[in-house]
Amino acid sequence: MTSSQQSTPTNGTEPVGHYDAIVIGAGVSGLYQLYRLRELGLSVRCYEDGDGVGGTWYWNRYPGCRFDSESETYGYSWSEELLQEWDWKEHYSGQPENEKYLNHVADKFDLRKDIQFNARVESAIYDEKTNRWEIKLESGQRAQTQFLIAAVGLLSARYTPPFEGVESFTGESFHTSRWPKEKVDFTGKRVAVIGTGATAVQLIPEIAPEVGHLTVFQRTPNYCAPCRNSEVAPETQRQWKATYPEIHKRCRETTVGMRHEFDRRKALEVPEEERLAFYEELWAKPGFTKWLSNFHDIMTNAKANEDFAEFVRNKIRARVKDPIVAEKLVPKDHPFGSKRIPLETHYYEAYNRDNVLLVDVREAPIERITPKGIKTTEREYAFDVIIYATGFDAVTGSLTRIDMRGEGGQTIKDKWANGPRNYLGIQTAGFPNFFIAINSAFCNYTVCAESIVEWITDCIRYMREKGLRCIAPKPQVEDEWIAYINKVAEGSIMTQARSAWFMGTNIPGKPRAVLLNPLPAPAYRAKCAEAAANGYEGFVLQ
Ligand code: NAP
Repeated sequence: MTSSQQSTPTNGTEPVGHYDAIVIGAGVSGLYQLYRLRELGLSVRCYEDGDGVGGTWYWNRYPGCRFDSESETYGYSWSEELLQEWDWKEHYSGQPENEKYLNHVADKFDLRKDIQFNARVESAIYDEKTNRWEIKLESGQRAQTQFLIAAVGLLSARYTPPFEGVESFTGESFHTSRWPKEKVDFTGKRVAVIGTGATAVQLIPEIAPEVGHLTVFQRTPNYCAPCRNSEVAPETQRQWKATYPEIHKRCRETTVGMRHEFDRRKALEVPEEERLAFYEELWAKPGFTKWLSNFHDIMTNAKANEDFAEFVRNKIRARVKDPIVAEKLVPKDHPFGSKRIPLETHYYEAYNRDNVLLVDVREAPIERITPKGIKTTEREYAFDVIIYATGFDAVTGSLTRIDMRGEGGQTIKDKWANGPRNYLGIQTAGFPNFFIAINSAFCNYTVCAESIVEWITDCIRYMREKGLRCIAPKPQVEDEWIAYINKVAEGSIMTQARSAWFMGTNIPGKPRAVLLNPLPAPAYRAKCAEAAANGYEGFVLQ
């Protein structure tokens, strides 16, 4: 045990662990953060709520769960050995394989010895006298640290609508992000799915053939695009392994950290025939090509957006046999890309099955959950299973659910009552030495998360080299950053849906705020690098 890991007894109860750094969460960001800080020679403890590593890929084990990023761009880029030894089986790898990959990483780099599982952080209180954070777990266990890094994921605080009677339901119910490890047997059962976001869109076609009857409760239809997943051919695998540096270089250069890049032409300046041929070409390709390699102005120009949106609507209409059902599945109240585009496999065909019913809750809202099932304003439906695919209290929820108190005892919940306040998305004024390692960019998760973890690591290295005790952003710089982010976002289509998790508008009562950094990934990284290069300009260092 190093001096910084010593334990001190507390009132004769459990000893308090002392660390240089505590990382909350052992998902994609947390594992890498642990690795990097340990490399710096720090004593690090990672607390993880689950009983295994993986974060998103640990919790979301519902049938059909898989990447919407290309597998070859989702794996960590920082270990050549890891890149060479890992074979991705599918182009859009599924949850079991993704969890296996992150377990492989934890084992390969011997990360488990510093991770405590089944350890949910209840509170984190900053002590201004010692400049240290005191952490308390739900179990009552306590620890102290100089640096606190929240790698808690942007989509991890699950959201279940507060329907009356949820507890009264006598069948089984599941939230997709807390799916059991054991296989759920749907054979012959009457199943309800509430929600039609990316999660439900992956789940529905997987379970439809297995259930007795499936009823989908839809509030907002989405622009779903074909995933076109396939197995990875050995030759492709070899090619990836030979060209990973180029693949990662490309991902660092593009707007969203993937291999896709927007087309610089303006949609409506391209002749109609050529434009439609381009749409068809994009549509035939896998993944987000049809969104992120499309004309750039579909994300800023309403007319350009509508042109492509209508193309997608017609694709949906062509796949659903019943024209009334088809019209219900066609999104008309928000622009394409103002909600995240779900990637699907046989989603629309599920509605051609005799055992699948679509209920539009805009026409007949859910009134309550009953002991037997779900009651809408029109009728009561009986179910054996209710699945809540109702999403997340995104970005801020996983932090505001922790009792976090910074200088003067201010809680993060109060500070963020009108939306998150931060500088570069990484630190928040009044909470010294607290870092947020969440990739809150609209990007490929890993590529962008890596750069944030590396920024935090460099910052901590800098502080130790200079003998500095604490760092926090200047409040004025934070205000300027938030104003800037809002200004960039307001020019974009992404703010225009009635309900979208990245604007907080999916949760009743949550303030509408820009939760995702709308800057192109390279521009965001340049801002972070510039602040660091100028001696952490915008931050107060002591
Ligand atoms: P979501 O996109 O927020 O979808 C939640 C669904 O629940 C929506 O259809 C929503 O309707 C519905 N809902 C919420 N409250 C409701 C209520 N009171 N009554 C009826 N319906 C209600 O959540 P998600 O599907 O879990 O996806 C969240 C994000 O996770 C995605 O956007 C994506 O970034 C990520 N994800 C990624 C993948 C992947 O491919 N790798 C897979 C799944 C998820 P409204 O739309 O009307 O609010």
